[in-house]
Parts: sequence; structure tokens; C-alpha cells
Amino acid sequence: MQEQSRDIASIERRVDAVEAALHERGMKPGEFIEEFEHLAEERWVPHNGARVVAKAWSDPAYRQRLLANGRAAVIELGIDMPRHHRHLVVLENTASVHNVICCTLCSCTAFTVIGLPPGWYKDLEYRARAVRESRSVLREMGLDLPPQIEIRVWDTTADTRYIVLPVQPPETVGWPEEKLAGIVTKDSMIGVARL
Ligand code: FE
Repeated sequence: MQEQSRDIASIERRVDAVEAALHERGMKPGEFIEEFEHLAEERWVPHNGARVVAKAWSDPAYRQRLLANGRAAVIELGIDMPRHHRHLVVLENTASVHNVICCTLCSCTAFTVIGLPPGWYKDLEYRARAVRESRSVLREMGLDLPPQIEIRVWDTTADTRYIVLPVQPPETVGWPEEKLAGIVTKDSMIGVARL
């Protein structure tokens, strides 16, 4: 009996059970899923955050507004922020400080700005180790930071979301915003990569 109680149904069977329960209550999960997929693929894309970063690099006044009130500054660019994302804190990387984001509880991100979280972001291993041994985790992910760079880890909550503002690569100074946005990756806005 004990063995059986540990069995977990396949993801497909669990999805079917949830859909059936919603149908029974007169809800239409198919329409919701379609709408969600549209949002996730067309609107909640990392290009939004890339535009924010590119503008912050190009426009010092915008950078100040962004650092002072991230939520207001991304809305200014026409990017949606769900009402429950009450704060968007912008973490400015410098030559001596590197910021990295995680969600130790689950998988929260500023998903309308940087896109939905990657699979590894939701892994128990990343969530636990990003906090305790961030330098090793970053190294394993291909970002080997010299010891003189301080790493700051930020744990997302339901109402406070983060975006890392990467250091602008010096060779890109003077580029038009659109071209700058093209080099900004989701990983760099989570803080597991530098540009
Ligand atoms: Fe979360």
C-alpha cells in the first residue's frame, strides 16, 4: 500500500483530470490555454526586457526612472505588468557587482518583461543552490566570475519581481536602440550570463 501511495500519475493523466474537473464546472480550459499560449508566445517575450535594457543604456534619464520605479518605467514603454506584480526592482550590474535572480519557493519571474522562466529556473537544484553556492552554480552554467566580483542573489516573491540590467558591452556604445535590444538575452536579464 505504501508503495502505491507514492505513485504519481503521468502528467497527461493529471492534465486530463484537471480539464475534466473544469469542464464539469462549466469552464472552458481549452480557450484559456489558447489565450495563455498566445500571451506566452507573442506578448510575454524577452524582447520586451531587451527593449527596456537598450533604452536604459541609451537614455540616462530613462535609466534613472527605471532604477527608481521599474514598474512605471516598463509600462511607459507599453509593456504589461500584472497588477499583483506590485514592484519591479531593477538590479544594476557594474564592473564589481553581479546580480542574479531566483525564486526559492517556486518559479516567479517578471514574465511579462523577460518571458516565462526557463526549465532550469524551476529546478529544485537551481532554486536551492543559487542561494547557497551562487558562484559555483554560475560557473557550471558557463559564467565564471572573477573572485573580486561580488555576487548578489535576489529571491523573487509573488509581489516583487526583478530584472537584471546587464553591463553594456563597450563595443556597442552608440548603437541604435533596436540593434542594442538584439544582443540582450533572457539569461542576461536573469543574471546567469553577462554580455
Ligand atoms: Fe515563485
